Formats: sequence, C-alpha cells, structure tokens
Amino acid sequence: MRHEILFPLFQDASRLKGVGARIAGALEKRGGRRIVDMCWMLPHGLIDRRHRPSLAELREGEIVTVEVQIATHQPPRQPQRPHLVLCHDDTGPLDLVFFKPRGRYLMEVLPPGETRFVSGKVDFYQGRAQMHHPAHIVAPEELEKLPLLEAVYPSVLGISSNRLREAVAAALQQAPDLPEWHDAQRRSALSHPAFPSWREALLAAHAPRNQGDLLPNAVARMRLAYDELLADRLALAIMRAQQRKKRGRVFDADGGRELQRRGVGALPWSLTGAQKRVLREINADMKATHSMLRLLQGDVGSGKTVVAFLAMLRAVGCGAQAAFMAPTELLARQHHAALAPLCAALGLQADLLIGRGRGSGGGDALRALQEGRSDIVVGTHALFQEGVKFRDLGLAVIDEQHRFGVHQKLRLSGKAGGGDGGRGAGPDMLVMTATPIPRTLHMSAYGDMEVSRLDESPPGRRPITTSAMPVARIDDVVARLRQAIGKGARAYWVCPLVEEGEDADGRASGKRSAVRERHEWLRKRFGERVGLVHGRMKGWEKDAVMQAFQGGALDILVATTVVEVGIDVAEASIMVIEQAEQFGLAQLHQLRGRVGRGRARSSCVLLYRPPLSDMANKRLRLMRETEDGFRIAEEDLRLRGPGEVLGTRQSGAPDFRLAQMDWHERLLGEAWEEAEAIVAENPRLEGERGEALRILLYLFERDEAIRYFRSG
Ligand code: ADP
Ligand code: MG
Repeated sequence: MRHEILFPLFQDASRLKGVGARIAGALEKRGGRRIVDMCWMLPHGLIDRRHRPSLAELREGEIVTVEVQIATHQPPRQPQRPHLVLCHDDTGPLDLVFFKPRGRYLMEVLPPGETRFVSGKVDFYQGRAQMHHPAHIVAPEELEKLPLLEAVYPSVLGISSNRLREAVAAALQQAPDLPEWHDAQRRSALSHPAFPSWREALLAAHAPRNQGDLLPNAVARMRLAYDELLADRLALAIMRAQQRKKRGRVFDADGGRELQRRGVGALPWSLTGAQKRVLREINADMKATHSMLRLLQGDVGSGKTVVAFLAMLRAVGCGAQAAFMAPTELLARQHHAALAPLCAALGLQADLLIGRGRGSGGGDALRALQEGRSDIVVGTHALFQEGVKFRDLGLAVIDEQHRFGVHQKLRLSGKAGGGDGGRGAGPDMLVMTATPIPRTLHMSAYGDMEVSRLDESPPGRRPITTSAMPVARIDDVVARLRQAIGKGARAYWVCPLVEEGEDADGRASGKRSAVRERHEWLRKRFGERVGLVHGRMKGWEKDAVMQAFQGGALDILVATTVVEVGIDVAEASIMVIEQAEQFGLAQLHQLRGRVGRGRARSSCVLLYRPPLSDMANKRLRLMRETEDGFRIAEEDLRLRGPGEVLGTRQSGAPDFRLAQMDWHERLLGEAWEEAEAIVAENPRLEGERGEALRILLYLFERDEAIRYFRSG
C-alpha cells in the first residue's frame, strides 16, 4: 500500500480542473496521465515577458508586454488577409495581427476605446510595429494574471502550450509537503548547496526565473534528480542486502561436477584458457554459501554462451533448474536450437519460453517448468512474467544484460523455486555482456557485481577488414559481393529499419522501409537467394529465414538490427552496413562481430551517406582502425557520454525521468554511497527518517524494495 500522503499525486490527471479525458489521453503518450507524471514533466524553456517598453521603443524580434489603447478594427477585405486591430499609446502605434480570427471573439477581447495589456513578439512590416497573435491579452485590472515569466513545456501532441501550462499548474497544486528524507548533515558534508524541500524544489523547477534555472545543475532540478537517483539506488541496495542475507545454494554435488565434465567433453573443441579460468571463477561462486551475482564480460564472439551453458550444467547436475534469458525472441530461439542437441546428448530437457502465444512454448513449457520436467529453459523477458513458476530455479543466466533493467534482473532472482527446502535461497545469477563497460560505469550500473572477463578469442579467428565508402559506390560493393558469393561466401546486409527523415515510430503514412526496398533491389541483382529478416516478422518466419541462411539456402541476408546481438552463423563472412553513420559505435561493433567467426577471411563494409557529421566521421574511422571492443567502448563513452553507453535510451526501458546521466553521473555515485549507508544503519527503514525514505521509494515507484521486507 502506498503511503496516503502520496494519494493525491497518483490520481488520474483527468480529475484536475480544466483537464479532461482528452488531455489526459494525450499526456498518457508523453510519460503518463497521473498527476505525478505531470509533476515530472519539467519545462525546457522560458519565455521572459518582463520587458515593458513604450511603443516608440519597440524593436524587431523582442518579446514584450505593452499597454495599448485600442483604436479600430480592420477586418480583412480578402479572406486570406489578416484582421488588423490598430492600437497606440502616447509614443506611437502598434498593429495587432490575426489570421482567421473566430467570429466576434476579437471584438470581445479587444473592444475599441479600451486599454489592454498585450504580450507577444514584435515584428515590423513596412515600417509599422506589429504583433502577430499576442500570447496574452488582459484588461488592466487583470494584469496579475499575465505570466511575466512563462515556463515552456515539451510539446504534447493535441494540447496547446497554454492549456498544458495550466494543466501542469493545477497538478502542482496537488503536491503535498513531504517529510524530509535527506540527511542535512550529510548534505553539508558534501559541501553542496543546501537542498530546498522536495515541494519547494518541485515548484521552483516548474517556475524558472532565468535560463540558468533550466540547467540540470540548477539546485531545484538537482534535488529532484538526486531524489530519483537515491530512490533507485536505495531500492537496489535494499534488494541486494536482502539477497545477500539469503543463503546461496551450494552447488557442489558430484552430479553437478560430473555433468559439467560431460558437457565439456561433448563440445567439438576444447575451451580456451580464458574460458577455463572464468568457469573456475563461476564454479567457485556456485559452490560457495553466498549466492552468486557475477558479470561475465567478453567481447563479441569470445565464447560466453558456452561458459554459461557449462555453468547451467553444474546447477542441473545438482538437481536444480537453470534459466537462460536472451534479449530477443530470435536469439532465444537460436540459443535454444543450439543447446537442445547438446542437452539431448546429455539426457536433459531444454524448453523454450518466449511468450504466451501459440508456438512460443507457452502453456507446455510453463507446466514443464513448474513440474520440474524441464531442466533448462531458454527464453526472453517472458521469463519474468507473473505466473512463470519454477520448481527449483538454481541459476539464472542473463545474456546481453544492457537491454534489461537492474530491477527486472532482481525480479527474476525473486523467482527461486521451493526446491531448496523452503530456505529461501535466491538463485545464482550470471549476467553476460558483450559491451565492455568501462570501469567508471560499473559501479553505477551494477553495484557491486563481481566481474569475470573473457579476454581471449577462440583460436583460428582472422582479423576482419573494415572499409567505409559512400553509398554512391554501392555498385562496386555489389560487384565484389558477386565475386565472393561465387566462391561460396555468405553475407549480411544490414539497413536501418526506417528511411532517414521518416517517423521513427513508423506510424506515419508513406513510410518507406529501407530494409524491404533493399531486399527487392538485391533480389533484382542476385535472384532468389536473398532473404529478409526484420523485427516485425512472426517468430516462426524469422526462424525459417535464419535457418535458410544458416543452412546455406540463402547467400545474402538482408536484415535490420535484429541480427545485432548474438546471431551466430559461422559461414557468414561479409557484413555490409548501410547508413552506417546512423548507428552508434557499440552497435557497429556488435554488428561487425556477426562475421569473422569461421575460418574464412571476413570483411565489413560501412556504407554511408555524405556529408558525414564530425561525430559520424570519428566513429567510422575508429571502426576501421580497431576491432578491440574495449577501446571502442571507451571511445564510445567519450563521444556520447555515459547515459547512452549504458543503453537505457535505446532499450526503451523505463529510464530516469529527472536525472540526466551526462549531468548527474556524480550524483549517482553519491546516491549509491548514501543508499549503502542507509542500508547499513537502518536496513528496514524504521523510525522517522525511515518513514520518509519509504515515502521516497513510493514516490518514484521503487517500492518493490519495501515488499522485500514483508516476504523476507
Ligand atoms: P559470444 O556469446 O561471446 O559472442 P559465442 O558464445 O556465441 O560468443 O561464441 C562464438 C563462437 O565461437 C560460437 O560459434 C562458438 O561455438 C565458438 N566457440 C566458443 N568457444 C570456442 C572454443 N573454445 N573454441 C572454438 N570455438 C569456440
Ligand atoms: Mg552471445
């Protein structure tokens, strides 16, 4: 139950005066339709109407508020001409200009002979001062209603800026005074400016007085951002502490060691030194009495999946179940297809769970999991869903973790089955990433996860030749491709989903799909053996195409970035990336990593549309210079800033609403320290400050953590 002091904030915006269902509906598309969502919608601009010159002092382009006498109205003689309202003061004239005015409206608000204050932007037309559609018109006795400083909000489709501003103002009136959750002593020790109270900060952030107030480091905004970060880190710290308290499973039965050994024996090659070392690290964690939370970093193609598989065998051999979670359906299917024969050879059952639809494994897999028939399950985020129950989940592997939020991961860890005899041990967690995360970002993203590195590629890899060329040379690329295919090569051809300049949502009519057009175009040149795979296809359709490519029935696979992560076709040796300038470094590196996996000499062609921005130019150059994932990641961090590198913006996962990583990174570190300190001193959030901190968690909807108190 949410704390009642917050009830008003979590009501639907349509309950506010002047906000109907229509406006609430529009708000829903911009972050949410509750009052609290409107509070978090901070202004990004400021219109200053404080300048009040006389009419003789008007200058082109200025925003002014002036007092005028209304003389006469001049309705248009032709329909496309504007309606003019001629005004003046003692010093000179001003014409108010209205296109397509409604009915008698203008006569009512601007009656001839009266005085009015008008505010808007000054224009000159044939030497005469004009103001087009003043933003505000008020009678002298209502002057205080004219906002001299006006916050500008990010536009919401279907709501005028004035209506939006009024709606937000109404929402802010609902903001209660909340008890202080910050520790004043700690704040002053950090020698930061003292924070205003939460409510003062919120109101100030919505009422900027100068451009500086709009900056993320303005004190009001900083407080709100810090609150959000603290809520996030505190939730994480509480969950981690609870998890650490749980005894881990001890995976040390002979059966586990034996099954892992048989798994190694079933592989067609031997493990690399790095794989052996990492497996030892994982095994040590798995047999220890604490539960494992380990991050496995390894560049694209370094062989992480195999290591994870062997770890799963250890859990399964000790009588538990293991789950492997992939970021996309396509990958889940691919991993499942790769693991199934190995599992069969070892006498294990591996199931696939990617949703509830038909052919997704839905009901059958769910039952097999719950009844314990299933030893290993491979799936997508469907594994998080309510209703997914394991008989005894011992190990959860999460692949390409940057696509999932930390909280989602912890939710999966809450899915321990009852098979441990009800001792409440959490499953071990192994998180894998191909994005080498620079050290500085580790702490902030993963707290205190232990890290293993696979820093050695499987033997026999050859370097990939990377070139960049303008799309005008596409015919050269086709000629080279034809030659290579003649010798038995296979190629990926990656396009952005949508043509440049189109609506990225893909909803706009007339949207052209680059990937489809390129597919058609290549078919005209290469014939039937060109396949197409993109995210909107049904799972089984993608499967069929991938299988055809894998099996050699297709020479070219035209694809969107669905092939970005993990897809593994060793025979593919050419990667063409179109509009490469639109992709980020991490993405280009991932895409390129799809080739260079087999014995053949591989190449990567980056096609771009000139002119290149400075940033794009740097990215493409770096891609030609190096294949070193760590170097690329570090450069990526430098070029883009940490918020982007962590991938939250691409993933569409609920991101921070107030904190901006590029500005507030330092705050994140402080919030983490404070969260740790709180958990150390007051782990169950008791007493007055504990109560305030609980309110903070509810406010930012991080209250999952509080539920842990009840269950733990
Ligand atoms: P990652 O997930 O780290 O990108 P994968 O686990 O998909 O890498 O492995 C990449 C490729 O290398 C796969 O085709 C895999 O079968 C192969 N591979 C993994 N380990 C070895 C090894 N020790 N020797 C040879 N090939 C290996
Ligand atoms: Mg992988």
